[in-house]
Amino acid sequence: MQNGKPAGVRCIQLDDRDRCRLFGDPRRPQVCSSLQPAADMCGDTREHAMHWLTELERLTFTTADRHLPQRNTTAV
Ligand code: SF4
Repeated sequence: MQNGKPAGVRCIQLDDRDRCRLFGDPRRPQVCSSLQPAADMCGDTREHAMHWLTELERLTFTTADRHLPQRNTTAV
């Protein structure tokens, strides 16, 4: 996404199965490629992973993101 993905916004590269369209593509952002899965981040359920990601976004939320809608973490 131009200027990076704001907190709380669904990445435009996610397909309808929540898979990254840029996986394996050199255009994939470095921050995405460098993020390694870990048990404490992924957990055993989608809900655990979404809670973790939501907390990361909350911690990195900036005032520039305030006008943006929040992610619906209950959607499947
Ligand atoms: S890995 Fe990065 S580019 Fe791909 S969907 Fe997630 S945030 Fe978007």
